[in-house]
Amino acid sequence: MEKILISACLVGDKVRYDGRSNYTPLIKQLMEKYELIPFCPEVEGGLLVPRNPSEQKNHKVFDNKGKEVTAYFEKGAELAYNICLYLNIRIAILKERSPSCGVHQVYDGSFSGKLVNGMGVTAKYLKQKGVAVFNEEEILSLLNQ
Ligand code: SF4
Repeated sequence: MEKILISACLVGDKVRYDGRSNYTPLIKQLMEKYELIPFCPEVEGGLLVPRNPSEQKNHKVFDNKGKEVTAYFEKGAELAYNICLYLNIRIAILKERSPSCGVHQVYDGSFSGKLVNGMGVTAKYLKQKGVAVFNEEEILSLLNQ
């Protein structure tokens, strides 16, 4: 069974900044076809649950108190890719709009809810390394392949 790296919050792990999950019901169908490897780059990168929300600005990441947290995000991205290498994972499903996991859109750094086109730190790194990245809204297309 092919393995997929997946944002841990999508399978129900309460690893979001606010201690909640982003459980996605399509996970059950996905598990019939793929072996899912849950991973949270922010937690694995060294951040705690709960934590202050973060957004990207000028190629760096800051929390909503103004503290730069880029190093945690970059470490999480590297660890995500290490797992892909180690387990021969070629596909990742990542939570849209997250500063780590966003695939097509992220928040603009103003903490005002404004979205811009762009990728989270881990999503971008995995894509650069050749991993195919999808968001949770694209799970159906993977199921129909
Ligand atoms: S970093 Fe990714 S996996 Fe972790 S809570 Fe945020 S969206 Fe979910």
